[in-house]
This record gives sequence, C-alpha cells and structure tokens, in this order.
Amino acid sequence: MNVVYNFSAGPAMIPKIVLRQAKKELQNWKQLRLSVMEISHRSKDFIDIAEESEKDLRDLLRIPESYKVLFCQGGARGQFSAVPMNLLSNSQNVDYINSGYWSQCAEIEARKYCIPNNINIKTICNNVVSLLPMSQWNISKYAKYIHYCPNETIDGIAIYEEPNGFKNIIIGDFSSVLLSRDINIENYDLIYAGAQKNIGPAGITIIIIRESLLRNTTSLPPSILDYRILSKYNSMYNTPPTFSWYLSGLVFKWLKKQGGLKKIEKKNEIKSRLLYKTIDNSNFYTNNISAKNRSKMNVVFNIIDPKLNEIFLKTAYEYGLIGLRGHSVVGGIRASIYNAMPLSGVRCLVEFMLHFQNRYG
Ligand SMILES: *Cc1c(COP(=O)(O)O)cnc(C)c1O
Repeated sequence: MNVVYNFSAGPAMIPKIVLRQAKKELQNWKQLRLSVMEISHRSKDFIDIAEESEKDLRDLLRIPESYKVLFCQGGARGQFSAVPMNLLSNSQNVDYINSGYWSQCAEIEARKYCIPNNINIKTICNNVVSLLPMSQWNISKYAKYIHYCPNETIDGIAIYEEPNGFKNIIIGDFSSVLLSRDINIENYDLIYAGAQKNIGPAGITIIIIRESLLRNTTSLPPSILDYRILSKYNSMYNTPPTFSWYLSGLVFKWLKKQGGLKKIEKKNEIKSRLLYKTIDNSNFYTNNISAKNRSKMNVVFNIIDPKLNEIFLKTAYEYGLIGLRGHSVVGGIRASIYNAMPLSGVRCLVEFMLHFQNRYG
C-alpha cells in the first residue's frame, strides 16, 4: 500500500503508532480477551484509564490542582450552549470575540441564553487580514465573561497571545489547537476542545475549568452538560464515550514520549513554516493572513488562478494527499497539519505543490 497523508481538518489523522497499538489490543485488551469498548465504564480497568489519562493530560499541560478536568459529550458545539448555561443565571452581558467562523457560531448559539456583545477583531489592510492584539480588544466593562477562539480551524487564522490582565472570566475554544503548544492554564478560567481535531477520535470533549467557577452557581443546565455534575461524578454521570477516551489516553502517552508540548510546538513550527514559505515564495499560491496570525494547525491557501483549485485537489488525491479541500464556507485549499502529521507528510505536500506549479504555472 502506498503511503497516504491525511490533511483532513477533523476528524483528523491519528498517529500511526497509536493506531497500531489500538489494533494490536483491540480484541484482547489487558489480556481480558475483550475489547476496551466492551467493558463497563465503572470497572476498575476502565477507571484506571480515566485516571491515567487525566494525569497524563495534567502533566502535559501543567494543569494546577485548582482546575478540574472533565470529559464530556456533545462536541465543541455542545459547549457553545454549556458555557452560558452553566455560568450565567439570567440574561447577562458577555463578550464574544469574533475572529472567524467558529467564534461567530459560538456567539450565535449564546444568543439563546444571554446578551452577547459581538466584538469584531478582524481587520483588512492592503488585502492582508490580521487580528487586533488583545490590548485593543474593545471589552465591555460589565461582561461576565469573554469567549474567544485561539485557532479558527476554517479561516486558518490564530491568536498566539495569551490573555493576561483581564478582569473578566476568560473562556477559550481550543478545539483545533489544544496540546499543539505549551500554554499557561492559569491565564484561562475555562478551556474546551472537541477531540477529533488534534487529539483523538470524535465523541469526547475535554473541559479544563477553574474549580472556583463551580461554586455559587444557581444555573440548571441539562445534567449531562452540567459542570458541577460532571465534576461530582468524575465525568461518569452518564456513560462516557469509552473508546474515544481510551484512544485519547493513548495519544497523551504518545505526546509524552515525544518529549511533551515544548517539543511538539517546535515540530509544529517547522512544519507550518515550511508550508508558508512554499506559498510565499511562489507567485502561484496565496495566503493573505498576516504572519503573526497565521494558523500553525490549519494552513489555508488558494491558487491565484482559482480555476486550478479543483485540478489541484483531484491530482493531490491521486498522489495520496487527501483531505485538502477547504471548508465549503471559504473554499480553496486547506492543509491541516496537527500534531499527528509528520514532517515527511508536509515535505511530500510541498514537493507536490512545486510539481503542480511547474506544470500549471
Ligand atoms: C470543529 C470545531 C468546532 C465544532 O466542533 P464539534 O465537535 O463538531 O461540535 C468548534 N470550534 C472549533 C474551533 C472547531 O475547530
């Protein structure tokens, strides 16, 4: 079988070595002669997975004791509702930073529960798109929280600054960027991420929440999205997506073996730099996002002659480079290069891009 590189934005590729391990133990996990997905989530064996995965995640992100880690269902969109439902008791003012598709979706969902201020931070100058630095965000004084998205998976635009000095509660949708770089958890009050981008299979959502936010609330969200209930039952109030949890746990171990997040961050830096350099050095491909806001996870680009996009996607697919089609709301080409994408995959894409340019440019 020829090598195939999967650039899909999500569900996205999982490290080959992790898949091999899962395959090896699929029918006989821990010598139980059963699959991990066939055992009770309340069994000692599964609780070991739950505890170990939390510990590994805490190690990787240096999560302080004063934060709870919750594993939940409903994806990131579930959290678009869960956040306001948990944190607000009546119609309150909140700030939603608008940097692209997903942050906008979060704001639209929040309108059901509160009065969100939509704060646009996108600017376009000489056809270059960039995001305002945090110091220029027009935050409302009385906003109960600020919600933002540090990596816009569809737009390929990112925020690298960490929030600091805000008086409001800070909430981040880290769906496509959690574990891709080192961050200081204490700069945030609540972080959430669906697993299927940069972590594991779809089905599980990770929430990291400052414990003090669980106190003194009178809100009554649905039990399965209620942070206090999830916390009280160690994320096992209802049956969790056990297989996704197990596999995400294997990915955490793989990340630790890679040397942790500082190491992964360097690798991601090298991969994305190579790709952006190829785009910038050509007069064939374009990306008009300012260097400081370019996503290192989702590299979105176009061919200057847009008629060639379709031929590019088709030829790339035949070449073994799959999942490169941009999201339908923006079109074009998108290479998602999460942690699991090896440098060899990016090199292969770059080689293909140069060939394609030579042929059609
Ligand atoms: C994919 C994605 C979502 C939606 O995730 P679901 O798990 O499908 O609900 C939300 N936010 C960001 C940043 C995403 O990348």
